[in-house]
Amino acid sequence: MTSQKSRSMKAVQITQNHSIRLIETDIPAIKADEVLVKPCSCGICGTDLHILRHGFPGTNYPVIPGHEFAGHIVEIGRDVTGLKEGDFVAVDPNVTCGTCRWCKIGRPNLCETLTPIGVGRPGAAADYVATPARNSFTVNENLGGDVAAMIEPLACVLHAIERSQGVTGKDVLVFGGGTMGLLTAIVSALRGADRVVLADPAPGKRTIAEAVGVPETTSPADLGRESFDVVFEAAGAKPALTQAIDLVQKNGVLVQVGVLDETDTVPFNPFRIYERELRIIGSNSCADRFPEAVDVMSDIAEQVRPLIDDSHLVWDFEAAVSDMAKGLSIKTQLHF
Ligand SMILES: [Zn+2]
Ligand SMILES: [Zn+2]
Repeated sequence: MTSQKSRSMKAVQITQNHSIRLIETDIPAIKADEVLVKPCSCGICGTDLHILRHGFPGTNYPVIPGHEFAGHIVEIGRDVTGLKEGDFVAVDPNVTCGTCRWCKIGRPNLCETLTPIGVGRPGAAADYVATPARNSFTVNENLGGDVAAMIEPLACVLHAIERSQGVTGKDVLVFGGGTMGLLTAIVSALRGADRVVLADPAPGKRTIAEAVGVPETTSPADLGRESFDVVFEAAGAKPALTQAIDLVQKNGVLVQVGVLDETDTVPFNPFRIYERELRIIGSNSCADRFPEAVDVMSDIAEQVRPLIDDSHLVWDFEAAVSDMAKGLSIKTQLHF
């Protein structure tokens, strides 16, 4: 596609001083092990808000944002096998080195030089994006771009469930009725949890949760003294975390999925951790769960589709981020 290389493309760029501009730039030149993707759908998440408004660790400003995306391959690098022009792909944005101690022990999300697409290297809020072939996974075209772009957050949820050491046969509580919380509840039910409760203070979020098949919902204020084997904090809210620790059952686990500010601290009761032998663990991004997420998505696509409830043209990136920040929608996506 040499003709394309001579052309330039449009892209959204976030500058160091946190402003957005539309730029005209060269179409990325792909390396031998990369493919060029023309995105069709791209989700917006809290990470984009951080990059835009406060700064986010590892951001290489000025950056083209966009890390939850799907699209079609339009060009193939010299050494790429197993992918071809025209393939429909979802992309794992986490580009790792493959050689550091964390990559070597199978913990790629902790890579010393993790360079996520849309954070540390140019993202999908553009006409084209270069992605390593090993990060690009073919997806059934029938899924549609919107649902395919949800494979990235689903992969993060599968990692969180793996971190919990499994939910099958367990009582599960999820704090937060946003994308991560809803997907966590949906997958926990799919995986055979005995009980799945989603807690969110907003009645609207609980209604959506019920509509997509989450077995039980409640306001956090009504949780009382029940206890759960696995609690996922997916609200990214300090009060939820403090409350969560008191709701974990003996030998249970609290998984921190929500992203709080780097400087946030919360009060908690250390006696509970000792007394009940609790585990409190973090879950950061999607690790190596992307291929599994491609499979799982085909089972839950119809539950996921209604979660995509806000859409903007990619060039209206700023409006999309402020919509997302208001918290009125579940998943805001960019379209092309
Ligand atoms: Zn994201
Ligand atoms: Zn590494």
